[in-house]
Amino acid sequence: MKKIQMITPLVEMDGDEMTRILWKMIKDELIIPFVDLKTEYYDLGLVHRDETADQVTVDSANATKKYGVAVKCATITPNAKRMTEYNLHQMWKSPNGTIRSMLDGTVFRTPITIPSISPAVKFWKKPITIARHAYGDVYKSVDIRVEEPGVAKLVFEGESGKREEQIVHTFKGPGVLQGMHNTDASIRSFAHACFKYALDLKQSIWFATKDTIAKKYDGRFREIFEEVFAEYKDAFAAAGIEYFYTLIDDAVARVMRSEGGFIWACKNYDGDVMSDMISTAFGSLAMMTSVLVSPDGKYEYEAAHGTVTRHYYKHLQGEETSTNPIATIFAWSGAFRKRGELDNLPELVNYADQLEAACFDTLNEGIVTKDLANLMEGVTPQVKNSADFIAAIRERLEKR
Ligand code: NAP
Ligand code: MG
Repeated sequence: MKKIQMITPLVEMDGDEMTRILWKMIKDELIIPFVDLKTEYYDLGLVHRDETADQVTVDSANATKKYGVAVKCATITPNAKRMTEYNLHQMWKSPNGTIRSMLDGTVFRTPITIPSISPAVKFWKKPITIARHAYGDVYKSVDIRVEEPGVAKLVFEGESGKREEQIVHTFKGPGVLQGMHNTDASIRSFAHACFKYALDLKQSIWFATKDTIAKKYDGRFREIFEEVFAEYKDAFAAAGIEYFYTLIDDAVARVMRSEGGFIWACKNYDGDVMSDMISTAFGSLAMMTSVLVSPDGKYEYEAAHGTVTRHYYKHLQGEETSTNPIATIFAWSGAFRKRGELDNLPELVNYADQLEAACFDTLNEGIVTKDLANLMEGVTPQVKNSADFIAAIRERLEKR
């Protein structure tokens, strides 16, 4: 069979543990036999990150800026335990955090749905994508434990000499205090990424804050979204999609009653909380994809889950695993589709579609990994190990 040709390489970011094992299996079984694969390879496995003093992560982010489309395997974010496990020189920062900040990107998470796994919310007919603003607010806040009576003030000292001061609270006894911020630049990037991705998916976008309470803070988010939307208004109209703003509590109520099929843009904390709710309500973390989109339209595709450490330790002991590769496969198909669109390669786009369709064929026949078995209704699941499950997808991909 003639392999599908590529023009521009994908930026390939390899990773850790069980997902690294799946990564190789996916390439060997589902990609290389079908595509004349061109990638620029970066090994973001923890060993190599440590060897390069994390330079490899920076290089991979720069390559993404250069080429525009990357696909990433899950990676370990080191903690104290990993320091000893891998004998690390330093507790390197989360690669996802580094890449996200270098690309100034927004993360969009979408569940992969199948008919035999119905969402916990019966109204939902289509996936809901969550966009989380990944900068600032409580995640970059400072806080103080107040131990005695006293005055808490919010002070801003401008470079011009301008000074603004407000009393936050006059404490009569112990309490707690927090200061947080965001920047116009970051909110604007978030808005651009959201509107761009909405046009990409041809789906409407919802955004919600609490600007009735946080009039200046959340009010600024709302204003910037409105300003930025003005640039996209005509394109939205042409695509038949809309931008819808409401209050966060109203949004939550409407999301529950909706049939899905839209993007929900969330402030940092809302996105943190709501993405876990959405993924759980749709089924399994192993069926959640994640795309990082920069305001200038660079894309990095990955699975939302981690390196599945528990399965990896079993694998190392020679035990069989049944780890779900679907979200990682969809990271590849997403990247191929985007690359195919950018390079005007309909065959590559078609391969991405067929690869996803082969996954659906497999799942719809009831062939699954262990994590999905208990969630399925109306089909008798046949649980496969990791390798056999990928082989089953390959069989169906070859038939297409
Ligand atoms: P995880 O790797 O997502 O796994 C948590 C649990 O979820 C697993 O033990 C497994 O449950 C289930 N699970 C997740 N993905 C699955 C899949 N594909 N197939 C089957 N089951 C799946 O999260 P974690 O254990 O908290 O984190 C492990 C490592 O991943 C950490 O070092 C963390 O830093 C890293 N991480 C990386 C990323 C990223 O690169 N994007 C994201 C999150 C975490 P059972 O054990 O019950 O089968
Ligand atoms: Mg969370």
